[in-house]
Amino acid sequence: EKFTAIVLAGGTGKRMHSHIHKQYLTLAGKPVLYYALKAFEESDITDIILVTGADEEAYCKRKIIDKYHIGKVKAIVPGGVERYHSVYAGLCAAEGADYVLIHDGARPLVSADIIKRSMQAVKEYRACVAGMPVKDTIKIADEDGYAKLTPERSKVWQIQTPQCFVTAEIREAYQKMMEAGDDSVTDDGMVMETYGIRGVRMIKGSYENMKITTPEDMLLGEAILKGRSTER
Ligand code: C5P
Repeated sequence: EKFTAIVLAGGTGKRMHSHIHKQYLTLAGKPVLYYALKAFEESDITDIILVTGADEEAYCKRKIIDKYHIGKVKAIVPGGVERYHSVYAGLCAAEGADYVLIHDGARPLVSADIIKRSMQAVKEYRACVAGMPVKDTIKIADEDGYAKLTPERSKVWQIQTPQCFVTAEIREAYQKMMEAGDDSVTDDGMVMETYGIRGVRMIKGSYENMKITTPEDMLLGEAILKGRSTER
């Protein structure tokens, strides 16, 4: 069975306030994007499709894939304005894949263990997303900024990637979403929940599998990477 990782590296990452896109910033000596690619390279997945910003394909190839010898990348495709455009571009390039693992390139700390468990879970449940139970209490605010609802904490998860599906099923769900003109989705699980044919199983990622979004995330990411290298 063929597993393809779709690694997303499009978008501009405005919340980082940097002129360099966050996926190319240097984290513990290497580009942020390198780490996720390396994790998939060393896993049992068959191949990788890298989705970049428009006109960034050559840069990624030279500065990351060739430089660090990421041999499983079979295609580099340009993404789109929103994340879902980039995912769809990746899905269209994932020919022949039985399963896809969609992963944010801005999550460099994905581990071998999460990838392995994601592959097992998608075979069993056909649709699964990694996440972790929230540590803080979550409140839903009304338009005036007053607390309106406090969901039961034990049932609230923060969602990560990989998000894994049967390729044909998630592609069809994305097509339906786009035909409906819906641009409100924020993750792939939501596309399956809303337009797909099956429920999405949640599996545990890890608290380390954070997304690099704002400058302080870089400090945290470096600290975790340094911790890992001293453990070895
Ligand atoms: O911006 P955000 O942190 O939500 O992005 C999550 C992931 O999706 C990142 O890895 C980013 O590179 C990717 N992305 C993309 N195309 C976009 C927007 C985001 O591939 N248009």
